[in-house]
Amino acid sequence: FYSSAKKLTIGLIPADGIGKEVIPALSSSYSNSPNFNFIELNAGFEHFQKTGTALPQETLDRLKNECSGALFGAVSSPSHKVAGYSSPIVALRKNLDLYVNVRPVVSVASNKDPNQKPIDILIIRENTECLYIKQERQTVDEKTGLKVAWADRKISEYASRRCGKMAFEMALSRDKIRQSLRLWDTRPKVTIVHKSNVLSITDGLFRETVRGVKENDSMYDGVDMEEQLVDSMVYRLFREPHVFDVVVAPNLYGDIISDGAAALVGSLGVVPSANIGDNFVVGEPVHGSAPDIAGQNKANPIAAIRSAGLLLEHLQLHTQASAIYNAVDDVLKTGTFLTPDLGGNSTTQQVTDAIIKYLPDSH
Ligand code: ATP
Ligand code: MG
Repeated sequence: FYSSAKKLTIGLIPADGIGKEVIPALSSSYSNSPNFNFIELNAGFEHFQKTGTALPQETLDRLKNECSGALFGAVSSPSHKVAGYSSPIVALRKNLDLYVNVRPVVSVASNKDPNQKPIDILIIRENTECLYIKQERQTVDEKTGLKVAWADRKISEYASRRCGKMAFEMALSRDKIRQSLRLWDTRPKVTIVHKSNVLSITDGLFRETVRGVKENDSMYDGVDMEEQLVDSMVYRLFREPHVFDVVVAPNLYGDIISDGAAALVGSLGVVPSANIGDNFVVGEPVHGSAPDIAGQNKANPIAAIRSAGLLLEHLQLHTQASAIYNAVDDVLKTGTFLTPDLGGNSTTQQVTDAIIKYLPDSH
């Protein structure tokens, strides 16, 4: 992938709060990229307040017609219900059928203790069903006269299969990156998280379907598969996080595990994610709009930059993705340019510039 090849167009949706700092910092620092065109697109709560629309049709149309992928900043969630407003990122996921959220949790190799085992986990969270179908109701118990609350949980073979397939595909693609960096010393592995000893029908279906993805496709012969009940998964995650590679889970377990895992590697400002579907991918830092630090040019841009790496990884640009991850690691290890959340006093733009400087010229 060199400058002679056609440039890829990436949609940038800064949206709200520090999203408006970390995304523009990246595009201005990277404006001479030989490989990418950026187009900036509107969405967000602030855009809603100005125009009455949180996700303009034009943004959707241009994403679908002009862009290979997109990078989303962050969206403010008003603490009270605002008439006519609903989250643009949720709408994007639905509109573009972005059915999994992948969240890599990676520690930086310590210079002080080279023997410390690195954490490098990719959590794959199903993004469309489970308890998130939000079908709740309340009844009154006849005997006691007291309230009873209920929630339906949906697990489908369709959603579990495509989520499982994504897990095995990502295990293979991570393996490729590591081999190219000669970092690889163990086989790729997928850990299936469930609670099918209790929820044998719903979690049972998830487990069985994800297992079937590997069992029915020899392409995944080189990927190991194991299972963890969700409770013991949490225990092992905190005891021995370095043993995990790809972890795949239904929506709610995936949510809980990935927040816990993020706590293992430091600031919210360094954890990226990507919303992925068959036809599109939207990189998105895990953090929110951070109103407490917005407008001060001190937000950590690393979560957004790593999200850009994820985007490229999913577009099969593995060399470019590794270059970004390595540049981030170099800056973190050197420790000269760090934002305040990591104990430094550099600005968003300074950290971004430092990272882009570490990229090879052809990137
Ligand atoms: P939102 O409702 O948009 O999620 P929030 O108030 O929950 O906003 P978060 O963005 O989730 O804020 O951030 C939680 C905490 O982490 C805040 O104190 C914030 O300053 C800090 N934080 C989040 N992202 C970053 C970042 N990129 N760099 C530095 N600190 C961050
Ligand atoms: Mg938040």
